[in-house]
Amino acid sequence: MKVHVLLGPPGSGKGTQAKHLVEKLPLIHLSTGDILRDAVSQETELGLRVKANMASGKLVDDSTVNGIVFARLQDETGDVVFDGYPRTLFQAESLQTFLSSQGIALGLVVDIEIQEQELEMRVVNRRVCSNNDCGAIYNLNSKAPMVDGICDLCGSPLKHRSDDTSEALHTRLAAFKETFEPVQNFYKGTPHYRYVEGNRPPEQIHDRLVQLFQEQA
Ligand code: ADP
Repeated sequence: MKVHVLLGPPGSGKGTQAKHLVEKLPLIHLSTGDILRDAVSQETELGLRVKANMASGKLVDDSTVNGIVFARLQDETGDVVFDGYPRTLFQAESLQTFLSSQGIALGLVVDIEIQEQELEMRVVNRRVCSNNDCGAIYNLNSKAPMVDGICDLCGSPLKHRSDDTSEALHTRLAAFKETFEPVQNFYKGTPHYRYVEGNRPPEQIHDRLVQLFQEQA
């Protein structure tokens, strides 16, 4: 079993790319954002605890997120690709300690980078399928659904994430800037780290990711 990581700012396309990767390769997609949003929509104890932070774009505390991730990893046997985790140096260090203790290998850490100006346009225009089993991601500018407000794939209504507003994006970007560089430095210079330019059409990024994953398999 191996664990891979997709790094990058909110709106860099990590989630979209991870969803397409698992259609092509034998990988399990674990998005901490999706797990937490699911908990919020089901109003579980966890969901109620993290709801306010998530809506405003602040990070959820490290021990909560690490707890969720380690529990999930203990249940999985296949290769995993993380999207949205680790997001702080403490999470990266804890993940490494956990993987070593379980004899799980770290695979690729792919950093999808993109300029800040591009992010706001992407995030504010993002719409996601409300059916969690589908979770398709659209963009009103670059990838609009065929019927306004309806998912092309499953016909469920699309929704606008409550943290996909300009205001929450600024909080998310501030959190990202504060915590990301140490995570990036933790992996940069290791044999796991790969850099991918995110300011390109999603299909090109997808092809590059598939190539990287196939090369290291
Ligand atoms: P994005 O990358 O587009 O901001 P995510 O879906 O990854 O979106 O995350 C949404 C929210 O979930 C974050 O703003 C934060 O509140 C919470 N979250 C997700 N992953 C983590 C994490 N690893 N550590 C702390 N909070 C997290």
